[in-house]
Amino acid sequence: MKKGIAASKGYAIGKVFIQEHEEIVISDAKVTDIQAEKEKLQKALVASREQLEKIKAKAVESMGEEKAQVFEAHITLLDDPEFTGAMELEIDNNSSNAMKAVSDVTNTFVMIFESMEDAYMRERAADIKDVSKRIIANVAGKAEGFEITEANTIVVAHDLTPSDTAQLDRSKVVAFLTNIGGRTSHSAIMARTLEIPAVVGLKDITTTVKNGDVVIVDGIDGDVIINPDQATIDEYVAKRENFIKEQEELKKLIEVKTVTKSGKRVEVCGNIGKPEDVHQVLANGGDGVGLFRTEFLYMDRDSAPTEEEQYASYKYVLEKMEGKQVVIRTLDIGGDKTLPYLPLPEEMNPFLGYRAIRLCLDRKEIFKVQLRALLRASIYGNLCVMFPMISGLEEFLQAKEVVDECKAELKAEGKEYSEKIQWGIMVEIPAAAVYADELAKHVDFFSIGTNDLIQYTLAADRMSEKVSYLYNPMHPAVLRLIKMTIDGAHKHGKWVGMCGEMAGDETAIPTLVEYGLDEFSMSASSILNAKKIIMEQE
Ligand code: PEP
Ligand code: MG
Repeated sequence: MKKGIAASKGYAIGKVFIQEHEEIVISDAKVTDIQAEKEKLQKALVASREQLEKIKAKAVESMGEEKAQVFEAHITLLDDPEFTGAMELEIDNNSSNAMKAVSDVTNTFVMIFESMEDAYMRERAADIKDVSKRIIANVAGKAEGFEITEANTIVVAHDLTPSDTAQLDRSKVVAFLTNIGGRTSHSAIMARTLEIPAVVGLKDITTTVKNGDVVIVDGIDGDVIINPDQATIDEYVAKRENFIKEQEELKKLIEVKTVTKSGKRVEVCGNIGKPEDVHQVLANGGDGVGLFRTEFLYMDRDSAPTEEEQYASYKYVLEKMEGKQVVIRTLDIGGDKTLPYLPLPEEMNPFLGYRAIRLCLDRKEIFKVQLRALLRASIYGNLCVMFPMISGLEEFLQAKEVVDECKAELKAEGKEYSEKIQWGIMVEIPAAAVYADELAKHVDFFSIGTNDLIQYTLAADRMSEKVSYLYNPMHPAVLRLIKMTIDGAHKHGKWVGMCGEMAGDETAIPTLVEYGLDEFSMSASSILNAKKIIMEQE
C-alpha cells in the first residue's frame, strides 16, 4: 500500500494506465528559411487554438462556465501579441527555430510572472507553461493528449495539467494518481469538481505500478492498494457503494434550508481562506461565509496586500455570494502565523502574546488599510466584520474608533460604504465568554472560535501533540463557556455563530443545536453532512 495526499473524495477500483508525456527535445539549431519557420509556428498556434476550444467546450459541459474559464485564459494567451508576437520576432531576429522561439519567450514570461507580488498572478505562470507545452507539441507534430479506451481506468501520471484533467473521460476514468501536487493544486481542485477520486503527492507512483495493474484508490484516506486480494476488493466495493449512496442522499440537501425538528432555522456556512473558496461553499449549499481568514491574503508574499488588492478580494467574495451573509475577520497574525515582512518580537508564548487585534490596534497603519478596503467593498453585499482575540470591551470600542476614523476619511474622499455592516467579535478567549452578556450590548454578533477557546480554557496548546489528550471540545468547562456566550448574546437579541472546527464535529453538533447556536461555519466539504445532522435534532 502507498499513502499520498487525499485530493478528491471517493473510492475506485480499476486498471492502471500510465500517462507518459513524451519529452520533446528542443534544439538550438538556427533556421535559414525564416518564412517557412514562421508558418510552422502559425500552424501550431491555429492547431492549439482548435484543441483548446474543444477542451473548453468539454470543460463547460462537465464543470460549468466558471471552472472552464482557465481555458478561456489559455486561448487569450494565444492571441496576446506580446506573447505569440514575441515568438515571431524571435524567429525574425535570431533565426531561432519555432520550438526554440516558443521555449525562450515562455521562459521570459514565466520568470516575470513567477516574480510577481500577487499570488494569483504568480500562479498564472503554470498556465503559460501549459499553453507553451501545447504549442511546442503541435510544432513537433506530436499527438496531443491521450486516449483512454477501457472502462474502469485509473490514470497514473507524474502530474496532470489542467487541460489533461479536464479531458479525462468520466465514463472510463474512475480515478487518478500523481507523483506530485497537493490538495490545492489545479488538478486536485478539478478532480473534486469532476467528482473523480484522486490521490496526489505519491512521489513515485509512476514507477511503483505498471500498466494493467489493478489498484484500489481510497480518496478519503489517501491510500493506494496495489494488486489487492479478493477480500480487499470486496471490502472496497462495499465501501464505494456506501459512499455513493451517502453522497447522493447528501446532495439532496444542497438547496434545502436547514431547520431543526422543532422548527428552528439554523444557518450552515463555510470557512474560506482565499476568495475563490466561495465556489466550494456555494456548491455545497452553504448559506453564507461564516469566516474569511483574511491573513491568508497577507501570506506567501513580500509585502502586505494594498487597499486596492484587498478591496478586490472582498468585493469578489461579496458579489459571488449574492447577498448571502459574509463574515470577514480582520487580520489575525501572530501566534502560529507570521509574515516575513512584519517582524514580530520573540515571545515565550506567542499564542498569549502580540497577535490579532492586539497587533492591529498597535499598528493602526496596517489595520486601517484593511478596514478601508472592507468598508469600500461593503456596498457589494451583506457584510459582517469581526475582530479576533477580543478579551474585553475596551478592545472592541477601540477597534470601532479606528473604523470611525476610516469612515470619516472615506467620506471626505467621496468614497461610498454601507451603513448596514454588522460588527462583531470572535469569542475565543475565555474572558470574552464569561463576559458575553455585557459585550453583547455593544456588538451585533458573536462568533465562537473554539480552536483557540479550547486551548485557552484547558491550557492545552493546540499545536502540541503531547497535550492533545487534554484538548477536548466536549470538556464540561468548554461547554459551559459556549452556553454562556450563546445565552449572553440571546439576552440582548444578538445572534451567535461558531467558526472553529467544533462547528463541523458530528459529535458536538447535537449539543450546539440544543444550546441554540444560530450559525455553524466549517470547511465547505463538511456542510452537507452538518446540515443532515442538524435537521435530525429537536
Ligand atoms: C478559532 O480559533 O476557532 C478560529 C476559528 O480561528 P483560527 O483557527 O484561525 O485561530
Ligand atoms: Mg482563533
